[in-house]
Amino acid sequence: MEVLDIKKSPLAENPVIAQMALNNHEQVVFCNDNETGLKAIIAIHNTVLGPSLGGTRMWAYNNEMEALTDALRLSRGMSYKSAVAGLNLGGGKAVIIGDSKTQKNEALMRRFGKFINSLSGKYITAEDVGVGTKDMEYIKMETDFVAGLPESMGGSGDPSPVTAYGVYISMKASAKEKWGSDSLAGKKVVVQGIGHVGESLVKHLVKDGAKVSIFDINTERVNSVAKETGATVITDGNTLYDMDMDIYAPCALGATVNTDSLNRLKCSIICGAANNQLADENVHGKMVIEKGIIYAPDFVVNAGGIINVYYELEGYNRERALSHAEKIYDTTLNIFKISKEQNIPTYMAANRIAEKRIADIGKIKVSF
Ligand code: NAD
Repeated sequence: MEVLDIKKSPLAENPVIAQMALNNHEQVVFCNDNETGLKAIIAIHNTVLGPSLGGTRMWAYNNEMEALTDALRLSRGMSYKSAVAGLNLGGGKAVIIGDSKTQKNEALMRRFGKFINSLSGKYITAEDVGVGTKDMEYIKMETDFVAGLPESMGGSGDPSPVTAYGVYISMKASAKEKWGSDSLAGKKVVVQGIGHVGESLVKHLVKDGAKVSIFDINTERVNSVAKETGATVITDGNTLYDMDMDIYAPCALGATVNTDSLNRLKCSIICGAANNQLADENVHGKMVIEKGIIYAPDFVVNAGGIINVYYELEGYNRERALSHAEKIYDTTLNIFKISKEQNIPTYMAANRIAEKRIADIGKIKVSF
């Protein structure tokens, strides 16, 4: 999704509603409280499928327009992620303008919780960058419209095992598309980032007989996972993109699928958990196709996280969350089919599935 440079845009004179209209955002709530210093924006992109859900990010934005643009972009992304995952959720996102290290306190978070509560469930929040468990505890004191809570607070806990399972399932579907069989036995897989998701993914892959190589800037962690699973440690991260591999699984940072890495990668499949893997969707979405690489779109692959949160709202049951995550297999295959039929990049095919589902379900709601 493109980031709008508002200063160069004709929208500069009409920056708010006109910017919302670009991607048909439903509602934006601006929150201000002089007593606590709270300045926040809650963006609700679309509630056709259900209440809008997305995390709250606290960030020291340079100005309000930058914060608004981020909230609009991220809330739209959440609509697409939930829609393509088959969840009855809309897309929302909140941003608190400020430095999360120095400007956070109980009063500010609770005031923010009151703003969320005033929306009566149209927006449900969760953790995101700069907002942690303690903050969620404060927000929860003022509203029940909070999800993705730790088990100690009655929530579903760490979503990473469900996310990792979804990545594994999507990787199998990608293998089926590329090689006609979804077995990963003997396939050389490089996993970059052995955090919560990466570690769990490595265990699935090793169990399946894949030849797994792993890299993380945290050497202690990577060595311990290698010892436990038998995966091979990559000692120099700079050589990672030049390695002989079948599958590249980015599970650390965004934007690692870029012109430099694509000029070096010799893999057949890219499938991993990291958000925003394509540095530039327009450029690198096409470049992967030209290189003959199958790219499983990140927001489809890593939907296990939001699936897990969704089942928290339904009365949590991990089996149901895992069973829903299994559907990522068919969704991934369907995306490859649409991409081929319509000659479009896979991320665009995923967007079309999401848009169609929102449009279709929107029609049935008109009838009552
Ligand atoms: P995490 O913070 O537990 O792990 C990230 C790991 O990446 C850490 O071990 C870190 O040391 C490593 N890392 C950082 N920079 C690196 C680099 N340059 N090279 C190699 N390793 C590096 O995060 P996570 O929960 O495992 O999530 C991984 C990715 O998946 C993130 O991009 C996250 O946004 C995305 N994601 C996670 C979930 C989830 O359920 N946890 C859901 C959706 C998307």
